[in-house]
Amino acid sequence: MKLLLFTGVSLWSLASARSSASVVQTGSISTPAGTVEITKEEQCACRELRASFAKNVILPGQANYTEQTKDYYWDVRADLSPACVFVPETADAVASAIEIFSSCNAQFAVRGGGHMNYPGSNNIDGGVLVALSSLNSYTVNKDSIDVGPGLNWYNVYTALESHGRVAIGGRMKTIGVPGLTLIGGFHYFNNKYGYAMDNVLSYDVVLGNGTQVTAAKDSHPDLFWALKGGANNYGVVTKFTLKTYSVPKVTSTIQMFNESAFPQFFDAMCHSAMVDEEDPTAAGMIATVSYNVTTKVASASLLGVQEGVSMPPSKFANFSSIPATMRINNVTTMGQWSSELDSPKQMFRVMFSHKTMKPDSETILSIYKAWKAAVEQISDVEGLYPTFVLNEITPSSLRVANTNGVGNVWGLKAEPLMIWQFSTGWALSQDDLRVEAWSQQLTERLHAINQEKGIASEFVYMGDAGGWQDPFVGFPAENVNRMRDIRAAYDPSKTFSRLNWGGFKLGM
Ligand SMILES: Cc1cc2nc3c(=O)[nH]c(=O)nc-3n(C[C@H](O)[C@H](O)[C@H](O)COP(=O)(O)OP(=O)(O)OC[C@H]3O[C@@H](n4cnc5c(N)ncnc54)[C@H](O)[C@@H]3O)c2cc1C
Repeated sequence: MKLLLFTGVSLWSLASARSSASVVQTGSISTPAGTVEITKEEQCACRELRASFAKNVILPGQANYTEQTKDYYWDVRADLSPACVFVPETADAVASAIEIFSSCNAQFAVRGGGHMNYPGSNNIDGGVLVALSSLNSYTVNKDSIDVGPGLNWYNVYTALESHGRVAIGGRMKTIGVPGLTLIGGFHYFNNKYGYAMDNVLSYDVVLGNGTQVTAAKDSHPDLFWALKGGANNYGVVTKFTLKTYSVPKVTSTIQMFNESAFPQFFDAMCHSAMVDEEDPTAAGMIATVSYNVTTKVASASLLGVQEGVSMPPSKFANFSSIPATMRINNVTTMGQWSSELDSPKQMFRVMFSHKTMKPDSETILSIYKAWKAAVEQISDVEGLYPTFVLNEITPSSLRVANTNGVGNVWGLKAEPLMIWQFSTGWALSQDDLRVEAWSQQLTERLHAINQEKGIASEFVYMGDAGGWQDPFVGFPAENVNRMRDIRAAYDPSKTFSRLNWGGFKLGM
């Protein structure tokens, strides 16, 4: 455990600390990155939380502080130093905490699976971190599952496995249920079932004044709509009820291609995004190009999953006809497939930047070439791990929300789109500004070319966005206005806009 040095005036009682040898509660924390001040409001919140929930509050220096403030986080940049960590075990405890934050006027952050990756998106220096890891119960119903926000998608897929059912969630196993569900949710089966947000039947929510409500189609329907993509602007969700589907088996395909096949690879991606079927077979993929700056070798990978048994998987025929360096097809359960797929936490510092466009394989090839050339400008960055990622948005995936009588905040027309993303890993904090500026400028330059060509979309997906990006400009203006009205109704004192750090906020 990291030794924390405390300075300033002690405002808490040493005698009441659980481990008095290592726990000193004062007005600042020294960290490797500098001194973190703890305001009197934050001290008030930690003190009040300890008075009511002593065993659920972790202070700097105590056991589990490092686990909760670092180990749970995917990106090293997201590691911060809260004044205290609150680990609630019930929705009522979350409600009490929110009341305390309001009455103390204290800043706080909320963490689910910890995958949102830019600093401050899910953690906080000096405030209170609400870590939802203990809200991890679930109940499997006939055609739905109730899920606590402390679970990740692997937990959900394995819970459903013996029932032969799947939920629509994340494609990597340790991504959290809450963050992904509140921002949209790209899964392999979006083309048939819509996004994770479109499959939420109800949300149990703690609002800014500590009130608890259930938002569903016939209960607070305005809040129900706003939570479908509206992120953490309205409250803390303490339970999601998710639709499930009978999919006992899936067919997966893993394919690798060398650079000579990239034109066909990008063509197959664009073709897949443009397929517009009324009743499609559920299928989708993760498509990634990696470039090794040392060997100068680029390779593309396709991780595809299709519902049911189909050997070889019919929905990936356009990829399977391209000469590959590796191709493995397999039939498993969704739980078995997702058990293989993880991107370990705390491996890198990572910058995401992306934009969206109409599918156009020649332009995607030119974006790839521009990216590869630009990577050379930062090839001396230690631990550089550059990848170029493509995500499809099919018309049928959007038609789900357009026809289910609820909709979502994205408000996208049922037209094919392609998200192109630079995901750049590196090792040292000294390179943070350089890599971030490089990624942002390159993305904006290439997007401007697409704007000139008339093929750009302004849609920004919160899950693939850098902290510098504003997803709300890509939503229809009337949806953003409606989101603001709903916020005014459910969080009139703007607890989640003024005090809650992280994520993509609607703005005041
Ligand atoms: C390796 C990797 C793979 C990814 N793959 C996918 C993918 O396949 N599909 C996809 O759609 N996205 C994907 N993403 C993006 C991912 O969905 C987002 O980062 C998402 O926010 C992660 O959810 P989480 O619970 O882990 O996040 P956290 O970082 O814990 O939370 C994200 C945001 O939600 C807030 N929040 C968390 N819980 C709650 C709650 N209960 N109530 C209110 N607010 C809350 C947090 O405060 C934070 O602002 C991926 C990201 C990474 C890093």
